[in-house]
Formats: sequence, C-alpha cells, structure tokens
Amino acid sequence: MSIRRTVRNMNAYAWEESSRSIAKRYGLDEKSVIRFDMNTSPFVLNVVAEALQKRAGMAVNEYPPANYEGIVKGVANYLDVQERQVVVGAGGDEVIDTIALAFLEKGEKSVISTPTYSMFSIASQRVGSKVVEVPRTASHALDVDALTEAAQNAKLVWVCNPNSPTGNAEPPSKIRALMESTKATVVVDEAYAEFGGESVVKLTQEYENLVVVRTLSKAFGLAGARVGYAVTNPELAAVLNKLRLPNSVSEPATVLAGAALSAEGIRQMKDGVAAMVAEREKLKSRLEPPFEVFPSETNFLLIKFPDAQKQFKRLLTKGLVVRNLSENALTKNCLRITVRSPTQNSKLLEALT
Ligand code: PMP
Repeated sequence: MSIRRTVRNMNAYAWEESSRSIAKRYGLDEKSVIRFDMNTSPFVLNVVAEALQKRAGMAVNEYPPANYEGIVKGVANYLDVQERQVVVGAGGDEVIDTIALAFLEKGEKSVISTPTYSMFSIASQRVGSKVVEVPRTASHALDVDALTEAAQNAKLVWVCNPNSPTGNAEPPSKIRALMESTKATVVVDEAYAEFGGESVVKLTQEYENLVVVRTLSKAFGLAGARVGYAVTNPELAAVLNKLRLPNSVSEPATVLAGAALSAEGIRQMKDGVAAMVAEREKLKSRLEPPFEVFPSETNFLLIKFPDAQKQFKRLLTKGLVVRNLSENALTKNCLRITVRSPTQNSKLLEALT
C-alpha cells in the first residue's frame, strides 16, 4: 500500500477505554461508569434540553445554512467580535485541522509548548509539518524565550491557554510577548477559557498573527453536538472559511448551538461554570498529601500520585475513568481528573481517600 510516509509514522489520538468495555471487564453496569477523563460537562443547559425536546427547526432532510449564520451571529455577540472574524467547525478539533492545512506545507516547522493538547501535533503532522516541542518550565509556565527561539523559521506556534493537561493559565502579556517576537502565526486554544484565565480574543483586532480557537464542548456542555470555532482577523477568517469542509456541523448541532449561544443560554452557562468552579475548589481542598494537586483555571485537576498507574487501575475497577498521563515524560505519575457533579465527585473522593 502506498500510504504517505508521514501518515505511517504518525501516532493516532488516544482515548481511554470505552465505558462498555470497562463495564464488561469489571462486571459493572455500563451506566454506572463515570467519565472523569474527557473534561466534558456533567450538565446539559436547560435551553439545550428544551430545544432537544421540541426538535423545532431540526430539518434533518435539509443541509444546515451553509455559512452557519446562527452560530456566527451567536459567537460574535457572545465575544463582542465582528461576524467576519468567526470560523465555525465540527468541534475545535476540525478548526485546529483547518488551521494546520492553511499554514503548513510539507516539511515546514510548527512549534508546540508541551505538555499540551495532542491534536496540535497530530494536525501538524497530518500535513507533513516538522513539529518542534518546547517544554514548559517546572512550574508549567510558558517558556516564551525558548518558544521565540524555536519559532524562528516556523509557520505556526500552538499554545493552549488555560493549558491541558496542566490546568494553569498564563496572562495575556505572555501571549502578546510571543506574538511580538515572532513572524509565525500564534494559535491560542481557549477551549477552557470560560473556567478561568484571561482571554486574548480581543487581541485578534490588534494582531494579524493571532488565531483563537474555542469550543462549545466544555462550558456550554455540547461535546456530543460537535461545534467549535476560531476567532481571527477577517482576512484570515476568509481563508479558513474557504478551506473548511462544507456542512460538517449538522443541522441538529446548529440548532442546539443557537440555543446555547442565546442570551438565556449564556446566562445558564455562566451559572453552570460557577458551580463547576466551586466544585473544583471543593475537590481540591479535600485532596491532601500525598496527592499533589496543581493549580487549575479549568474544569479539571492535574494530580500527582505516589503511584499513579496503580491508582488509575484501582479507579477503573470501580468504573471511575480518569485520564492516565503517568507514562508521559512531562507528567510522570500524574492523572487528570474532570470536575463533575457533586455526587460523582464524592464517589471519586471516596475511592481515592
Ligand atoms: N482543545 C482542547 C485543549 C481540548 O481539550 C479539546 C477537547 N478534547 C479541544 C480543543 C477540542 O474539543 P472539541 O473538538 O470537542 O471542540
């Protein structure tokens, strides 16, 4: 088979095991398995639940509006940006993929600040880019000097802020310093921005080399619908819109996204975020040494264990699935745990302590 060499050598995106398979292995009811591994929301917004019930406007025999105008207007209003700055995709992942496709020729350099979201590397490799990894500092801070150095002759620099899996957020001044020191385009993934840290969305009106990626999968609780977007300058947005696949966001997803981005949806999202942030702090305060909990501005906690691999397996036997990062060089002995509902978090705490 003449599959491209870059593709043959690539690592695929890795998930934890499915709930069905875990339930079968440990003799559990599949419905009792709780996913603490995907940083999704335990809530569905009321406006979304109502839209699902009514199913109004979900004409599945038709394509959605080709320009996703409802979502575009909703995002522009939500973030106070121009409609022509917005690019919609089937999740942040598709937007990330479109950005890589727009900027990276085969053999060209892209830079990532590790440890971070694995799709930056995967999307870059898919188009044949050479990925250069720049580790964060011991306290998980962005190493702007090292990134600047690595970004010489690079086309893209990928930064996640707040970062997954570390959970910390960096101030806009650091992103600004990075943008000013490089000709490369800086992509800032703000999938977790609603939970903490300060957004750089407004800087897209000031800098030409900035793209911000966002999603409705986390704070808005719409991971299953698959809706994400980029905000950038209008010229680049037009290029990304030219490249994106047509109609990859389904008609039902556009209706649900419209409800989520309504004034009432945004209000409900903010209430949900406040509840999750309070839960995060509660969970954190109950996890004492020997667990080391890192600072988080997201809906998850990165936790270092004396023996993470053993903990991971023990939790799995109880149907509690967390993200196992214990074998990765930069997150040795760490597990990443999504903050879920109070009842679900209590089950986790009980199992851990
Ligand atoms: N960025 C980060 C940092 C993420 O954790 C995720 C979710 N896995 C995404 C982007 C993409 O999410 P989605 O495709 O569901 O919008």
